[in-house]
Amino acid sequence: MKPVLYIVIPCYNEEEVLPITAPMFLEKLNTLIGLEKIAPDSRVLFVNDGSKDRTWEIICGLAESDEHYKGICLSRNRGHQNALLGGLMTAKDRCDITISIDCDGQDDINAMDEMVDAYLDGAEIVYGVRSSRESDSFFKRTTAQGFYKLLNVMGAEVVYNHADYRLVSSRVLQEFSNFKEVNLFLRGMFPMVGFKSTCVYYERHERLAGKSHYPLKKMLALAFDGITSLSIKPIRLITIFGFFVALLSGVGILWSVGTALAGKSVAGWASMVCIFCFLGGVQLISIGIIGEYVGKIYLETKGRPRYIISETTDEKKK
Ligand code: UDP
Ligand code: MG
Repeated sequence: MKPVLYIVIPCYNEEEVLPITAPMFLEKLNTLIGLEKIAPDSRVLFVNDGSKDRTWEIICGLAESDEHYKGICLSRNRGHQNALLGGLMTAKDRCDITISIDCDGQDDINAMDEMVDAYLDGAEIVYGVRSSRESDSFFKRTTAQGFYKLLNVMGAEVVYNHADYRLVSSRVLQEFSNFKEVNLFLRGMFPMVGFKSTCVYYERHERLAGKSHYPLKKMLALAFDGITSLSIKPIRLITIFGFFVALLSGVGILWSVGTALAGKSVAGWASMVCIFCFLGGVQLISIGIIGEYVGKIYLETKGRPRYIISETTDEKKK
Protein backbone atom coordinates (compact mmCIF):
# COMPACT_ATOMS: atom_id res chain seq x y z
CA MET A 1 0.00 0.00 0.00
CA LYS A 2 1.37 3.37 -0.99
CA PRO A 3 1.22 6.03 1.75
CA VAL A 4 -1.19 8.96 1.53
CA LEU A 5 0.80 12.21 1.80
CA TYR A 6 -0.51 15.56 3.02
CA ILE A 7 1.72 18.59 2.39
CA VAL A 8 0.77 21.04 5.17
CA ILE A 9 1.41 24.71 4.47
CA PRO A 10 0.65 27.57 6.90
CA CYS A 11 -0.10 30.86 5.14
CA TYR A 12 -0.36 34.33 6.60
CA ASN A 13 -0.87 37.27 4.26
CA GLU A 14 0.68 35.42 1.35
CA GLU A 15 -1.46 36.64 -1.58
CA GLU A 16 1.68 37.60 -3.48
CA VAL A 17 3.56 34.33 -3.26
CA LEU A 18 0.75 31.74 -3.05
CA PRO A 19 -0.23 31.89 -6.75
CA ILE A 20 3.44 31.21 -7.62
CA THR A 21 4.20 28.43 -5.15
CA ALA A 22 0.85 26.55 -5.01
CA PRO A 23 1.28 25.07 -8.54
CA MET A 24 4.83 24.07 -7.58
CA PHE A 25 3.55 22.06 -4.61
CA LEU A 26 0.85 20.45 -6.77
CA GLU A 27 3.38 19.56 -9.43
CA LYS A 28 5.61 17.93 -6.84
CA LEU A 29 2.64 15.98 -5.46
CA ASN A 30 1.68 14.79 -8.94
CA THR A 31 5.27 13.78 -9.70
CA LEU A 32 5.43 11.71 -6.51
CA ILE A 33 2.07 10.14 -7.38
CA GLY A 34 3.35 9.44 -10.91
CA LEU A 35 6.48 7.77 -9.49
CA GLU A 36 4.11 5.59 -7.43
CA LYS A 37 5.80 6.63 -4.19
CA ILE A 38 2.58 8.00 -2.70
CA ALA A 39 -1.13 7.27 -3.11
CA PRO A 40 -3.25 9.20 -5.65
CA ASP A 41 -5.50 10.63 -2.93
CA SER A 42 -2.60 12.63 -1.45
CA ARG A 43 -3.30 16.33 -0.93
CA VAL A 44 -1.82 19.81 -0.53
CA LEU A 45 -3.39 21.30 2.63
CA PHE A 46 -3.20 25.06 3.15
CA VAL A 47 -3.85 26.58 6.57
CA ASN A 48 -4.97 30.18 6.39
CA ASP A 49 -3.73 31.73 9.63
CA GLY A 50 -6.26 34.56 9.84
CA SER A 51 -4.79 36.46 6.89
CA LYS A 52 -5.95 40.02 6.35
CA ASP A 53 -5.46 39.95 2.59
CA ARG A 54 -6.93 37.72 -0.13
CA THR A 55 -5.06 34.55 0.90
CA TRP A 56 -8.23 32.60 1.85
CA GLU A 57 -10.01 33.55 -1.40
CA ILE A 58 -6.99 32.32 -3.32
CA ILE A 59 -6.98 29.02 -1.38
CA CYS A 60 -10.72 28.54 -2.05
CA GLY A 61 -10.11 29.22 -5.75
CA LEU A 62 -7.31 26.65 -5.81
CA ALA A 63 -9.52 24.05 -4.10
CA GLU A 64 -12.15 24.58 -6.78
CA SER A 65 -9.63 24.29 -9.58
CA ASP A 66 -8.09 20.96 -8.48
CA GLU A 67 -9.27 18.32 -6.03
CA HIS A 68 -5.71 17.84 -4.75
CA TYR A 69 -5.84 21.27 -3.07
CA LYS A 70 -7.53 21.51 0.32
CA GLY A 71 -7.72 24.38 2.78
CA ILE A 72 -8.66 25.13 6.36
CA CYS A 73 -9.15 28.60 7.76
CA LEU A 74 -8.37 29.56 11.36
CA SER A 75 -10.75 31.91 13.14
CA ARG A 76 -7.94 34.46 13.63
CA ASN A 77 -4.19 34.86 13.40
CA ARG A 78 -2.56 32.46 15.88
CA GLY A 79 1.02 32.49 14.65
CA HIS A 80 3.04 30.09 12.55
CA GLN A 81 3.44 27.31 15.14
CA ASN A 82 -0.25 27.12 16.05
CA ALA A 83 -1.31 27.28 12.41
CA LEU A 84 1.05 24.45 11.57
CA LEU A 85 -0.25 22.38 14.47
CA GLY A 86 -3.83 22.98 13.28
CA GLY A 87 -2.90 21.69 9.84
CA LEU A 88 -1.03 18.66 11.15
CA MET A 89 -3.83 17.69 13.53
CA THR A 90 -6.37 18.00 10.71
CA ALA A 91 -4.20 15.90 8.40
CA LYS A 92 -3.28 13.18 10.87
CA ASP A 93 -6.52 11.20 10.54
CA ARG A 94 -6.65 11.45 6.77
CA CYS A 95 -3.16 10.40 5.76
CA ASP A 96 -0.11 8.25 6.51
CA ILE A 97 2.53 10.97 6.23
CA THR A 98 2.65 14.76 6.39
CA ILE A 99 5.31 17.13 5.14
CA SER A 100 5.19 20.62 6.62
CA ILE A 101 6.71 23.45 4.61
CA ASP A 102 6.47 27.26 4.42
CA CYS A 103 4.50 28.65 1.53
CA ASP A 104 7.14 31.12 0.34
CA GLY A 105 9.20 28.69 -1.76
CA GLN A 106 12.33 29.15 0.37
CA ASP A 107 12.62 25.46 1.17
CA ASP A 108 13.58 23.26 -1.76
CA ILE A 109 10.56 21.06 -2.61
CA ASN A 110 12.82 18.57 -4.35
CA ALA A 111 13.96 17.37 -0.92
CA MET A 112 10.50 15.81 -0.58
CA ASP A 113 11.51 12.86 -2.77
CA GLU A 114 14.30 12.00 -0.39
CA MET A 115 12.04 12.53 2.60
CA VAL A 116 9.47 10.07 1.27
CA ASP A 117 12.27 7.59 0.44
CA ALA A 118 13.56 7.89 4.00
CA TYR A 119 10.04 7.18 5.28
CA LEU A 120 9.76 4.14 3.01
CA ASP A 121 13.09 3.02 4.50
CA GLY A 122 11.57 3.08 7.97
CA ALA A 123 12.04 6.62 9.38
CA GLU A 124 8.98 8.10 11.12
CA ILE A 125 10.35 11.66 11.27
CA VAL A 126 12.58 13.18 8.59
CA TYR A 127 14.08 16.60 9.36
CA GLY A 128 14.84 18.92 6.48
CA VAL A 129 18.19 20.53 7.29
CA ARG A 130 19.67 23.50 5.46
CA SER A 131 23.06 22.61 4.08
CA SER A 132 24.05 26.26 3.77
CA ARG A 133 22.63 29.67 4.46
CA GLU A 134 24.10 31.47 1.47
CA SER A 135 20.75 32.92 0.43
CA ASP A 136 20.08 34.48 3.84
CA SER A 137 21.31 37.96 4.63
CA PHE A 138 24.39 38.17 6.86
CA PHE A 139 22.18 39.41 9.68
CA LYS A 140 19.62 36.59 9.39
CA ARG A 141 22.37 34.01 9.07
CA THR A 142 24.32 35.05 12.15
CA THR A 143 21.25 35.60 14.33
CA ALA A 144 19.76 32.25 13.29
CA GLN A 145 22.99 30.39 13.96
CA GLY A 146 23.36 32.13 17.32
CA PHE A 147 19.80 31.05 18.04
CA TYR A 148 20.52 27.34 17.53
CA LYS A 149 23.71 27.54 19.59
CA LEU A 150 21.90 29.34 22.41
CA LEU A 151 19.08 26.79 22.36
CA ASN A 152 21.50 23.91 22.72
CA VAL A 153 23.51 25.62 25.45
CA MET A 154 20.25 26.24 27.30
CA GLY A 155 19.35 22.58 27.17
CA ALA A 156 16.72 22.51 24.42
CA GLU A 157 17.26 19.62 22.06
CA VAL A 158 16.88 20.87 18.49
CA VAL A 159 18.26 19.66 15.19
CA TYR A 160 20.86 22.20 14.00
CA ASN A 161 19.68 24.33 11.06
CA HIS A 162 16.30 22.60 10.91
CA ALA A 163 13.24 24.84 10.80
CA ASP A 164 9.77 23.45 10.20
CA TYR A 165 10.38 21.63 6.92
CA ARG A 166 9.82 18.07 8.05
CA LEU A 167 8.14 14.78 7.26
CA VAL A 168 6.16 13.28 10.14
CA SER A 169 4.17 10.06 10.00
CA SER A 170 0.59 9.96 11.23
CA ARG A 171 1.70 7.44 13.85
CA VAL A 172 4.00 10.05 15.40
CA LEU A 173 1.28 12.68 15.08
CA GLN A 174 -1.17 10.45 16.99
CA GLU A 175 1.30 10.33 19.87
CA PHE A 176 2.08 14.01 19.45
CA SER A 177 -1.59 14.88 19.90
CA ASN A 178 -1.11 13.95 23.58
CA PHE A 179 1.32 16.85 24.00
CA LYS A 180 -1.20 19.36 25.28
CA GLU A 181 1.01 22.39 25.88
CA VAL A 182 -0.09 25.76 24.54
CA ASN A 183 3.43 27.22 24.33
CA LEU A 184 4.47 25.60 21.10
CA PHE A 185 7.94 25.16 19.72
CA LEU A 186 7.39 22.31 17.32
CA ARG A 187 10.95 21.79 16.12
CA GLY A 188 12.01 21.19 19.72
CA MET A 189 9.00 19.04 20.58
CA PHE A 190 9.18 16.44 17.82
CA PRO A 191 12.58 15.10 18.98
CA MET A 192 10.89 14.45 22.34
CA VAL A 193 8.33 12.12 20.78
CA GLY A 194 11.12 9.76 19.81
CA PHE A 195 10.72 7.14 17.02
CA LYS A 196 13.22 6.55 14.26
CA SER A 197 14.32 9.80 12.66
CA THR A 198 16.78 10.99 10.07
CA CYS A 199 17.85 14.17 8.23
CA VAL A 200 17.68 15.24 4.62
CA TYR A 201 19.88 18.14 3.45
CA TYR A 202 18.76 20.88 1.07
CA GLU A 203 19.66 24.38 -0.11
CA ARG A 204 17.49 27.20 1.10
CA HIS A 205 16.47 29.80 -1.50
CA GLU A 206 15.33 33.41 -1.30
CA ARG A 207 11.66 34.06 -0.66
CA LEU A 208 9.95 34.03 -4.10
CA ALA A 209 7.68 37.01 -3.32
CA GLY A 210 6.17 38.92 -0.40
CA LYS A 211 8.13 39.58 2.76
CA SER A 212 9.20 37.73 5.89
CA HIS A 213 6.89 37.68 8.90
CA TYR A 214 9.78 37.03 11.22
CA PRO A 215 11.38 40.39 12.00
CA LEU A 216 13.97 40.54 14.78
CA LYS A 217 11.30 41.04 17.44
CA LYS A 218 9.43 37.85 16.51
CA MET A 219 12.69 35.93 16.13
CA LEU A 220 13.76 36.90 19.63
CA ALA A 221 10.32 35.95 20.95
CA LEU A 222 10.58 32.55 19.24
CA ALA A 223 14.09 32.01 20.64
CA PHE A 224 12.93 32.91 24.14
CA ASP A 225 9.84 30.72 23.81
CA GLY A 226 11.97 27.88 22.52
CA ILE A 227 14.27 28.03 25.49
CA THR A 228 11.66 28.54 28.18
CA SER A 229 9.24 25.93 26.86
CA LEU A 230 11.84 23.22 26.52
CA SER A 231 14.18 23.68 29.43
CA ILE A 232 14.48 24.98 33.00
CA LYS A 233 18.21 25.49 32.63
CA PRO A 234 18.00 29.33 32.76
CA ILE A 235 16.48 29.14 36.24
CA ARG A 236 19.23 26.79 37.29
CA LEU A 237 21.84 29.14 35.83
CA ILE A 238 20.36 31.96 37.91
CA THR A 239 20.76 29.86 41.05
CA ILE A 240 24.35 29.01 40.19
CA PHE A 241 25.05 32.65 39.42
CA GLY A 242 23.44 33.62 42.75
CA PHE A 243 25.82 31.31 44.60
CA PHE A 244 28.74 32.74 42.67
CA VAL A 245 27.79 36.34 43.52
CA ALA A 246 27.24 35.37 47.17
CA LEU A 247 30.69 33.79 47.28
CA LEU A 248 32.22 36.85 45.71
CA SER A 249 30.54 39.19 48.19
CA GLY A 250 31.83 36.94 51.01
CA VAL A 251 35.33 37.60 49.77
CA GLY A 252 34.49 41.31 49.54
CA ILE A 253 33.26 41.36 53.15
CA LEU A 254 36.41 39.67 54.38
CA TRP A 255 38.50 42.15 52.45
CA SER A 256 36.62 45.20 53.81
CA VAL A 257 36.78 43.89 57.40
CA GLY A 258 40.49 43.32 56.89
CA THR A 259 41.13 46.85 55.60
CA ALA A 260 38.95 48.32 58.40
CA LEU A 261 40.94 46.45 61.05
CA ALA A 262 44.15 47.65 59.46
CA GLY A 263 42.75 51.17 59.78
CA LYS A 264 42.95 51.78 56.04
CA SER A 265 39.26 52.05 55.25
CA VAL A 266 38.50 55.00 53.00
CA ALA A 267 35.02 56.05 51.93
CA GLY A 268 34.77 53.95 48.74
CA TRP A 269 31.28 54.98 47.70
CA ALA A 270 31.96 54.49 43.98
CA SER A 271 32.61 50.78 44.40
CA MET A 272 29.51 50.55 46.61
CA VAL A 273 27.31 52.16 43.96
CA CYS A 274 28.74 49.83 41.32
CA ILE A 275 27.97 46.76 43.38
CA PHE A 276 24.43 47.90 44.15
CA CYS A 277 23.71 48.66 40.51
CA PHE A 278 25.12 45.34 39.44
CA LEU A 279 23.15 43.37 41.99
CA GLY A 280 19.99 45.34 41.19
CA GLY A 281 20.37 44.40 37.53
CA VAL A 282 21.02 40.77 38.29
CA GLN A 283 17.96 40.61 40.52
CA LEU A 284 15.70 42.24 37.94
CA ILE A 285 16.84 39.87 35.20
CA SER A 286 16.35 36.91 37.54
CA ILE A 287 12.86 37.98 38.50
CA GLY A 288 12.07 38.55 34.83
CA ILE A 289 13.16 35.05 33.85
CA ILE A 290 11.24 33.45 36.68
CA GLY A 291 8.26 35.60 35.74
CA GLU A 292 8.49 34.27 32.21
CA TYR A 293 8.10 30.72 33.53
CA VAL A 294 5.27 31.73 35.86
CA GLY A 295 3.54 33.33 32.88
CA LYS A 296 3.93 30.12 30.92
CA ILE A 297 2.46 28.09 33.79
CA TYR A 298 -0.46 30.54 33.86
CA LEU A 299 -1.15 30.04 30.16
CA GLU A 300 -0.77 26.27 30.42
CA THR A 301 -3.21 25.96 33.33
CA LYS A 302 -5.84 27.80 31.35
CA GLY A 303 -5.49 25.17 28.62
CA ARG A 304 -7.15 27.33 25.99
CA PRO A 305 -7.54 25.86 22.51
CA ARG A 306 -4.42 26.40 20.46
CA TYR A 307 -6.33 27.09 17.27
CA ILE A 308 -9.93 27.24 16.15
CA ILE A 309 -10.93 26.19 12.64
CA SER A 310 -13.69 28.44 11.34
CA GLU A 311 -14.02 27.17 7.77
CA THR A 312 -12.69 24.52 5.43
CA THR A 313 -12.72 24.35 1.64
CA ASP A 314 -14.96 21.27 1.95
CA GLU A 315 -17.51 23.01 4.14
CA LYS A 316 -17.66 26.66 3.24
CA LYS A 317 -19.68 29.33 4.99
CA LYS A 318 -22.78 30.07 2.95
N1 UDP B 1 3.09 32.32 9.00
C1 UDP B 1 1.87 32.00 9.62
N2 UDP B 1 1.41 32.81 10.63
C2 UDP B 1 2.09 33.90 11.08
C3 UDP B 1 3.35 34.20 10.46
C4 UDP B 1 3.81 33.38 9.43
O1 UDP B 1 1.22 31.02 9.25
O2 UDP B 1 1.61 34.59 11.98
C5 UDP B 1 3.59 31.45 7.91
C6 UDP B 1 4.00 32.18 6.64
O3 UDP B 1 2.91 32.36 5.77
C7 UDP B 1 5.05 31.24 6.06
C8 UDP B 1 5.67 30.63 7.29
O4 UDP B 1 4.76 30.84 8.37
O5 UDP B 1 4.47 30.21 5.29
C9 UDP B 1 7.04 31.21 7.62
O6 UDP B 1 6.98 32.62 7.66
P1 UDP B 1 8.06 33.54 6.95
O7 UDP B 1 8.42 33.00 5.61
O8 UDP B 1 7.53 34.92 6.98
O9 UDP B 1 9.30 33.42 7.94
P2 UDP B 1 10.87 33.28 7.59
O10 UDP B 1 11.02 32.23 6.53
O11 UDP B 1 11.32 34.62 7.12
O12 UDP B 1 11.51 32.89 8.89
MG1 MG C 1 10.16 32.24 4.81
